[in-house]
Amino acid sequence: MKLKSLFVIGFVMVASLLLVFINYYTITILSTVRAYIAGESEYSKGQKTALLGLMAYLETGRGEFYRNFEESIKIPMGDNKARHGLDADGDVRSISAGFIEGKNHPDDVGNMIWVYRTFKNNILKEPIRLWRDAEVEINELAAMGPEIRKEVETGKMTEAVRLATISKIVTVSRDLYDKESAFSMELSITARRINSMLLAIDIIGILLIAGSIIASMSVMMRRLHLSHKIAEEKNAELTETNKDLDTFIYSVSHDLRSPNTSLKGLIQLIQSDPDPENHKEYVALMDGVVEQQDAFIREILDFFRSKRSSVSCKPFSLHALVEDVIRANVFAPGAQKIAINKELKTDEVNSDELRVKMIINNLLSNAIKYSDNQKTDRVINISTEKVENDVVIAVEDNGIGLSNEQKERIFDLFYTGKKSSRDSSGLGLYILRQNVEKLHGRVELESELCVGSKFMVYIPCPQ
Ligand code: ADP
Repeated sequence: MKLKSLFVIGFVMVASLLLVFINYYTITILSTVRAYIAGESEYSKGQKTALLGLMAYLETGRGEFYRNFEESIKIPMGDNKARHGLDADGDVRSISAGFIEGKNHPDDVGNMIWVYRTFKNNILKEPIRLWRDAEVEINELAAMGPEIRKEVETGKMTEAVRLATISKIVTVSRDLYDKESAFSMELSITARRINSMLLAIDIIGILLIAGSIIASMSVMMRRLHLSHKIAEEKNAELTETNKDLDTFIYSVSHDLRSPNTSLKGLIQLIQSDPDPENHKEYVALMDGVVEQQDAFIREILDFFRSKRSSVSCKPFSLHALVEDVIRANVFAPGAQKIAINKELKTDEVNSDELRVKMIINNLLSNAIKYSDNQKTDRVINISTEKVENDVVIAVEDNGIGLSNEQKERIFDLFYTGKKSSRDSSGLGLYILRQNVEKLHGRVELESELCVGSKFMVYIPCPQ
C-alpha cells in the first residue's frame, strides 16, 4: 500500500477517535450543566416549601409546619455547603454529601464536582456568582426560622411584628426568585453555547473526515484509471509484439534456410566436379555463405538484446566509441574505397553506451553497404554535436540514396530495398528505431536517390 493511502487511513482513524472523544467530553459537560439546572429546580422547590412551611407556622403555630420548614431549607443549604467545599477545594466526600442533601442525583455528583472545578473561572463564572449571591437570602431565611419559633413559642409576637415578618419573608422570597431565574437562565445560555460549539466541532470534524475519504478515493480512482490505461497500453504493445513475432518467425525461418539451400547446392557441385582446383572456389563461396549466416544470427541476437534489455545510462566517451565502430568496419567489403571523415564536437555523454554503439554501427555499416560503385569519390561523414539537451549523431554518405517510397518503409521490420546487398536482413534500421525510442530520442532522414543519404539521431542527454 502506498505511503499516502496509509497516511489518509491513519488520519481518518485519529480524526474519528478525536471526534468521538470530543463528543463524549462535550456531552458530559452538557449533561452536567443540565444536572445543575435540575439541581437549581430542586433548590428552588426546597426554598419555596421552606417559605410556605414558615408562613404556615407563623399563622397556626403548629410544630409540623415548622418541621416542614426545617426539612425543606436543608435542600438549598446542602447545595450551598457543597459550593463552599468546592470553593475551598475541600474533601470530595463532604462536597458530595452537600449535593445529595441538595437532592441532586447521586450519579451526577461526580461530574458536577469535576465540571465546577474545571470551568469555575470561565463558562460557569457568572452562574456561580449568582448562586453565591442567593446564599445571602437563603441564610436569612434559615435564620428567620428559629427567631420566629422563639417568638411563637413564648407567645410574644405582636400583630405588628407578625405583619413585618410576613413582609420580610415575601421580600426575601422575591429576591431569591429573581436570582434563581437569572441563575437558571445563565445555565441555559451556557448549555446552548456548548450545544452550538459541539455542532460546529461535529460539522468540521465530519467534513474533514469525509473530505479525506473523498480525496483518497479520488486518488485511488485516478490510480485505477492509470493502471487501466497502462494495462491497455501493455495490451496494445503485446498485440504489436505478437504481430512482429509472426513476421519475425516467418522471415527468420526463410532467411535461415536460404543459406542452407546455397550450401547444399555448393556441396552437390563439389561432389559432381572431379577437378580439385574448382573445389577451392566452391569452399570460398561456402565460407562466404557461412559468414553471411553468422552475421544474420548476430543481428538476430542484437534484435533480442535491444528488445529485452533495459536502458542503463552512464558517462562514456563518444569519441572513443566512434573510433571503435570505424575500426570494426574498415575491413567490410568496399570500405577501403571510401573516405571516412569525422567531425566530433562533443565527447563525454551520459547515455546507454551499448545502444549508442549499435546505432552508430548500423548507420556506418549501411553507409558502406549502400555506397555508390558508380562514384569515384565515395565519402562518409560522421559528426557529433550537442544541440540543447540532445546529442546529435549524424552519418552522411554519397551512396545510392533512397526514393520517397523507400524512405517511408526502411524502418519496418525485414524491409530491404531492391538494390540491397546479399547480406541485407532488413533488421538493422528496425533495431535502430527501437534503440532510439528506448532512449527517448528520434531519427531524422534526408535522402535523395543516386545523391546520398543523411541519418540524424537525436538522443536526449542530460548533464
Ligand atoms: P539491411 O541493411 O540489413 O537490409 P536495414 O534495416 O539496415 O537492413 O536497412 C533496410 C534497407 O534500407 C536496406 O535494405 C537498404 O535498402 C536501405 N538503406 C539503409 N541504409 C541506407 C543507406 N545509407 N543508403 C541507401 N539505402 C539504405
